[in-house]
Amino acid sequence: MIYQSTRGASAPVNSAQAVLKGLADDGGLYMMKELPAFDWQGCLTKDTKGMAKQILGALLPEIQPMDELVERAYTGKFESEELTPTVKVGDFTVLELFRGPTSAFKDVALCMLPQLLTAAIQSEGMEKEILILTATSGDTGKAALAGFADVPGVGICVFYPHGGVSAVQRAQMVTQKGKNVRVCAVEGNFDDAQTGVKNIFAACADGKLLEGRGIELSSANSINIGRLAPQITYYFKAYADLMRRGEVKLGDKVNFCVPTGNFGDILAGYLAELLGLPVGKLICASNTNKVLSDFIHTGTYDRKRPLHKTDSPSMDILVSSNLERLLYLLSGQDAALVADLMKQLNTEGRYTVPAELKAAIDGQFWGDFAGDAETSAAIDRVWKEHGYLCDTHTAVGWYVAENYVNQTGDRTPMVVLSTASPYKFPAAVLSAIGGDTNGDEFDQMERLSQITGVPIPRNLTGLKELEELHTGVIPKDQMLSFVLGE
Ligand SMILES: *Cc1c(COP(=O)(O)O)cnc(C)c1O
Repeated sequence: MIYQSTRGASAPVNSAQAVLKGLADDGGLYMMKELPAFDWQGCLTKDTKGMAKQILGALLPEIQPMDELVERAYTGKFESEELTPTVKVGDFTVLELFRGPTSAFKDVALCMLPQLLTAAIQSEGMEKEILILTATSGDTGKAALAGFADVPGVGICVFYPHGGVSAVQRAQMVTQKGKNVRVCAVEGNFDDAQTGVKNIFAACADGKLLEGRGIELSSANSINIGRLAPQITYYFKAYADLMRRGEVKLGDKVNFCVPTGNFGDILAGYLAELLGLPVGKLICASNTNKVLSDFIHTGTYDRKRPLHKTDSPSMDILVSSNLERLLYLLSGQDAALVADLMKQLNTEGRYTVPAELKAAIDGQFWGDFAGDAETSAAIDRVWKEHGYLCDTHTAVGWYVAENYVNQTGDRTPMVVLSTASPYKFPAAVLSAIGGDTNGDEFDQMERLSQITGVPIPRNLTGLKELEELHTGVIPKDQMLSFVLGE
C-alpha cells in the first residue's frame, strides 16, 4: 500500500517503511494514497481485537502477521479483553480508553506500536537496532516505556521536565523496569525537553554521530501512522456497543466528542468515517489552550499566544501536528497547499485556510473549549448527577459535548471519549468534588477512592513502594551525551 507525504516532496513508501520512518524527509506526515476496500459492516460484528486485526491489516498490509501482532499487543494487558468498554452516563455514552497498563488512552496505540515496529524491521530487513527517543509532558512517556520494555531490537529513552510532571506520572516512569529502557529528567520545561529531542534528531540526521553504533533513531510520537491507525478501532467498538444496546441501527449516525491535543485521537475518528463507519459530527474539545477550537470557528490557525498550564495538562499544546493530515485529506490531497500552510505556520506562526477547505471542515467538525473552572464544575456535576467519576480531560469533553447539544439541538447519539483515569489527576478531581486535598498525590488517590468507592487501577496502587530506578537529572545541553552514553 502506498503512503505519501502530506507535503509532497518525499518519495512514496509502503506501510512498513512509513512506520519505520515516522516522519517523511520533507517534514510531512505519511498518509495513504488511496483507501483500501473495507467491509465496515463485517468489522462491526467482531470483538475488539478482531476489529483491530481487520483495520490494521487493511491499512498496514506490508506488516505481518497482523493477527498475531494484535494478539501479542493486547492479550492480558488491559482490564478486560474488551479493551475499551463503553458506559452509559446520562444522555451520553462514555468510551473508556484508559483501562490499559498505564491508565492513559495512549496505551491503545503504544501497546501496538512496538509490535508493528519490530515486524516492520523484519520485513524491511533492517539490521540496526531502533532507539526510540521521546520527550513527554507526562502520559506518553510511561505508555511508551511500558509498550517498549524488553522488546527485542528496540531501545527506548524518555526525557521529562524536572518538576514538570505530576508525582504519580514521575513515579510511573522512574520505576519502569526493562533492560532496554532509560529515563531521565531534564532541567527545564516540556518545550526544552522536546526541543532537545528534536535537536538530537537533527544532530544525528547525517548518520555520522551514530556510525558504528548499530542504531537508528525513531519516535513514538503520534506523527507515526503506526500510532494513529490502532486508534481507529475503538470508534468501531463504540458504535458496535451502541448497536448492541439498541441505541442505533446499522447505518444511523453517531457523534463523537474528543478531548484534543495533538489531533491524533480525533483524526482517527475521521479515518474511521473514511473506512465507512457512519460518523456524524466530530466534536473537538479544547482546554484554555484553544488554538484548535478557534481554528474550527475562524479558519485561522494562530499559535502565537502564551501556553497556559491547565488541569488537563496532556492537552496543553499549541502546535497540533496531526491537523496537517486533516488539511491534506479535506483539500483532496493538495500537498502544495499543505506545504505552503505549514511553511506559514513556521515562519509567521499562523495561517488561514482557503474558503473551500473551511467549508469542508465545517461540514464534519465542531469545536469549543472548557477552562479549568468549567472542567472542575463538569467533574462535580457528572459525579453528583450520574455517580460517574471522570478525569479532567474527559470533563473537558463532557462540557463541550453538552454545549454542542445545547447550541445545535442535535440529538444524534453522543459518545464522549474518556482519555485518562481520574486517579492520574487526583488533586484536581478531588478538589472538583469538594474533597480535602491535603497530603501528597498518593494520599489524595486513597482519599478519592474512600469518598467515591471507585477502585484505584492496579498499576497505580503500590506505585509509591516501588524502587526508583531512574533518578538522573541533567541540564538540557547534555541530552545528546546521555543518549550516546558518554
Ligand atoms: C494525549 C492525550 C490527549 C490528547 O490526544 P491527542 O491525540 O494528542 O489529541 C487527551 N487526553 C489525554 C489524557 C492524553 O494523554
